Formats: sequence, C-alpha cells, structure tokens
Amino acid sequence: MFAYWGKILRVNLTDGTIKEETFDEKFAKKWLGTRGFGIYFLLKEMDPTVDPLSPENKILYTTGPLTGTTAPTGGRYMVITKSPLTGYIAMANSGGFFGAELKFAGWDAIIVEGASDHPVYLYINDESVELRDASHLWGKTSTETEEALKEEIGDKRIRAALIGPAGENLVKFAAVMNDEHRAAGRGGVGAVMGSKKLKAIVVRGHKRVEVADRAKFTSVVKEKTDKLRNDPVAGGGLPKYGTAVLVNIINQNGLYPTKNFQYSQFEYAEEQSGEAMTAKYLIRNKPCYACPIGCGRVNKLPTLGITEGPEYESIWALGAHNGINDLASIIHANHMADEYGMDTISLGGTLATAMELYEKGLLKQEDLGEEAPPFRWGNTEVLHYYIEKIAKREGFGDKLAEGGYRLAEMYNGVEYFMGVKKQELPAYDPRGAEGHGLGYATNNRGGCHIKQYMISPEILGYPYKMDPHDIGDEKVKMVILFQDLTALIDAAGLCVFTTFGLGADDYRDMINAATGWDFSTEDYLKIGERIWNAERLFNLRAGLDPLKEDTLPKRLLEEPVRNGPNKGHVVRLHLMLPKYYKFRGWTEDGKITGEKLKELGLEEL
Ligand code: SF4
Repeated sequence: MFAYWGKILRVNLTDGTIKEETFDEKFAKKWLGTRGFGIYFLLKEMDPTVDPLSPENKILYTTGPLTGTTAPTGGRYMVITKSPLTGYIAMANSGGFFGAELKFAGWDAIIVEGASDHPVYLYINDESVELRDASHLWGKTSTETEEALKEEIGDKRIRAALIGPAGENLVKFAAVMNDEHRAAGRGGVGAVMGSKKLKAIVVRGHKRVEVADRAKFTSVVKEKTDKLRNDPVAGGGLPKYGTAVLVNIINQNGLYPTKNFQYSQFEYAEEQSGEAMTAKYLIRNKPCYACPIGCGRVNKLPTLGITEGPEYESIWALGAHNGINDLASIIHANHMADEYGMDTISLGGTLATAMELYEKGLLKQEDLGEEAPPFRWGNTEVLHYYIEKIAKREGFGDKLAEGGYRLAEMYNGVEYFMGVKKQELPAYDPRGAEGHGLGYATNNRGGCHIKQYMISPEILGYPYKMDPHDIGDEKVKMVILFQDLTALIDAAGLCVFTTFGLGADDYRDMINAATGWDFSTEDYLKIGERIWNAERLFNLRAGLDPLKEDTLPKRLLEEPVRNGPNKGHVVRLHLMLPKYYKFRGWTEDGKITGEKLKELGLEEL
C-alpha cells in the first residue's frame, strides 16, 4: 500500500499498554484518513453519550495519505474526540510539522484511551514507543514544555503535540498546541488530553513516505504548486499579509462582527488589518511543512519580543468582537493564549459574551470582584487579565473557562451567546452571507467556518461569485458540496487554504498519484459525504436534537443588520434548512435515513 503505512498505534493510559494495529487498503479507500479514520473508530468503539472528560472518551491523532509527502500543505494532522464544549464530535486540525513527523515515524494514527493517574507523555521514536513521567512538565506553558522536552530527550528535531495549563485545568476550549504557535484549536480537544493527564505526544521519525509513482507524483505536485503560486489569494494576499488580509475585505463587505455581533463593521478595522500588522510588526513569514503559501506570521513587539501570529480569526476574536482596537495588545493576547494553550475564537467569543452580559446589567462588578477589570467594550485590560485567570481557573476565570454558552446560562442571558451547539462563532456575520449561515447552523462541530467556507463563493468569488443573499437551491447545494469537499481535503491531510487555487479534480490527481488508485472526483466527494454523515451519526447518537440545534443565535435570525452593505438583512435559515435536509437525503427532521446509511456503507456502524 502506497502513501500509508497501514499502522495504528493504540495506547491505553489506564493500564499503560501500547499496541500496534494494522489496517488494509480497503479500509483506506473507504475512510481515506484523518477525520475518516477518527470517526470510524469513535463510532465503532465508543458510546457517543460518554462524558467527554471521562476515561471512556477516546482521543485520536490522525494523518492522511498526503501528510508527510511533498504535496502542497501536506503536513496536517487531526485531533478527533468527543468535545467537552459541545458534547458532540470535535475534529480540530493543525499544520506546523508534527503531522509530517508522525508519518515519518511510520504511523498513520494514534488512538489514546483510558486515563493516567499521573502526568505522562508519549515518546515515539520510529518503532520505539514509551510512556514517560511528565510530572515535572505539568504547569508549564507551550514553549516551556517544548523546550524542556527537547532538552530532556537531547534532540532538537523532535516535534510535539502538547497542552498548556489551560488543557491541564480542563478549560472547555483548551487547544492542542504544536510547533509552539500552531493549534488544533476548536472544541476543547486540549481539555480531553488534560483529563487523561497526557501532557504531550513527542515524535521523531526517520522514514520517507512512499508514493505509487514518484516521477508522476512529483510532476502532479509541481503543477498544483504552480497553480497555488499563481493564484491572487494563495500566491498573493495570503503570503503578503497573512490570513489577516481578510480584515479589510470582510469589514468593507459589512461582515466583520463587532461588539458581539451587535454591529457588522468596525470603525478601527484598518488599524488591525494584515496591511497594518505587516507594516508595523512583521519580521517574516512562517510556512507549515511543505507549504508554498506561507500565511504564518512572525512578528516582533517592542514590549514582548518575537512571537507568532495572530491570524485573522484571532485578531477579530480578541479585537473587534470585544470592541478592542489596539493591535499590539491583540498580538500580546494571542501570544498568551498560545502559551496557555487555548482556542482564540472561543476565548474571544466567551469574553464578548461577558462584555454584553455586563453591558446589559446581567453581570455585575460584584460578580467579578473589586480588583478585576470591568467588561467594558474596548477595555484592553480585560484581555491579559482574564486570559491568565481562565487558564488557571482563578476567580471569575473559573466561570469564563466554561465557555460563552455556559457563562450566558449562569447569568440568564443565553440570547447573548453568539454560537452554535455551544461553540462560539467565528469572524463572519452570516447576515451578510446567508449560505455561510446555513453552514454554521449545520456544522457537525458547532459554530465553525472552516469545515465549509461559503465566504469563498459568496464574498471572494471562489470558485465563482454567488450572490450572498441568494438562498436558492444552488446555494444550498453549494453548502453541501463545500462541507463534503472540506472533509475530503482534511482527510487527505491538506490545508483548506489550498481551495484558493485548487479544485476537487486537483485533489483527486494528487491522491491518485500518491496512492496509485484510479478514483474519480465523484468517488472522492463520496468519501467526503461519508465522513460528514458519519460525524452526523455520532452527534445524533450523542443526543443531538436537529430541529432545536441546527440553528443560529436569535440575533442573526431576527435582528436586521444596522448599517453597511447588508443593512436590513437577517439569515433566512428557515427557508434553507428544509432544503438542506432534503438535498442531504435526510428526513424532514434532520435524521439520516436507512437508505443513506446503506448508500454510504455506514450500516456496519
Ligand atoms: S496556508 Fe498557512 S496554515 Fe495552511 S499550511 Fe500554509 S502556512 Fe500553514
């Protein structure tokens, strides 16, 4: 079998056993990789109703067939588990170099089950695998942990996926960090590692991934890389300004959520844009493994020194979402979030929820404590003070660590939580891109933009421009296509930013050349559809009530945009959702039919 090793590592932290398992090509052809592998094992082996922070939850670290190859952006891995934030599936991926290194070590995936009674880390050096005590690392930040591991192992080239104090303290939106500032951020996957007392997975590999036909693969890769280099976004805007190139574009289009989605444009957007960050703080770009795009930023702040990021979502979540304008404070806050190991989108969303609860008088200064900075829009003090408190679960930080939904519930203001399925929304107001709103509402992991990115057709014109306020059949079908395509790109082990420049046929070409298979584009999209449905199946078994939970916050459905190009618009979800269910081949109440399960070969699960 090419592009895979056919090997999975299974680690039980309760009894300390480590086993090697194998899979065959039939399995690879059905599930492809990352999200496919992850959801298969979760459905097959785990009761979806388990408490996400109990030893019964499993956590997987998975690669795809293109991870560790020279395919553009082929360095991604995925962390898959039941989310403590949403109670549904979490599949958070990350770039950097960890995924490729895991593949070089000869493993396609790791399944971690059970829980240790003391801190441990897993050390993988090719075939040699051992659990080691990590008591001395507990409490250390991301960078401190990585440095200590390099020192202890005596190898600067190890790669680690690890948690900071936020994960250890079970912050519901804790991330898994790798390569210092890369994060598998969403859904609280870091808290699941924390609940298992697993501080890190350390990898060092020395193998090369074998592809079916090296010459052909190299020429296909060159062709796709050239396409990306010649694309104005993948080869222009992203390398030049990072993902923050979007700040001005999205703000001008009237989709830049401000003050917890009360407004859709931010008057200071220009000052926190990619252009401003490049002019003031950028030192250089930092690409992930095998990436010709290189959206990663290395910045230098006079007060902090050198750091990485922030990217578009983090600038917004820690900026406009909270009415905060000062870019230097945002960069510093992003640095802290990375060091403590938490998802910046949910962090910013939770703070913005607190801001509005405070504004509406539901949350009072006495709840925060005399010394604590008040949650006033634009108060930068809030950022640095509460990030530390959240990570340590100290004072009011303990409540914030539960995420925006639970916080809003505690203070009787659930309508001020801007999220889906208890997960905070990202940086696009869907009242200005209604298909994107349908994508949010139906996303398997809750409020999320990256598992379908309708901003591409609705705003940026990829693969072609669609009217953001059209809600016809074509739009609904495009949402489904984007969801399935993203599942395919993820499963292959690539970064979704390749969709600027590449289309479904390009992914087919690369996977076929690597594996030696002869799949059509439709065959691959079917894999994407299978993964999407399998994840949905997990959620339904975990207790998802589609008609109540495939929805958006009331504000986005009922409060028209106040100003800008989308003035007067809401998301007409009620007109799109029935069509979405129908085109997915599901029942009218959002359940998967027996026929669909059979068609996708999911009846065995
Ligand atoms: S586009 Fe950006 S996030 Fe994606 S692989 Fe390249 S550097 Fe990493």
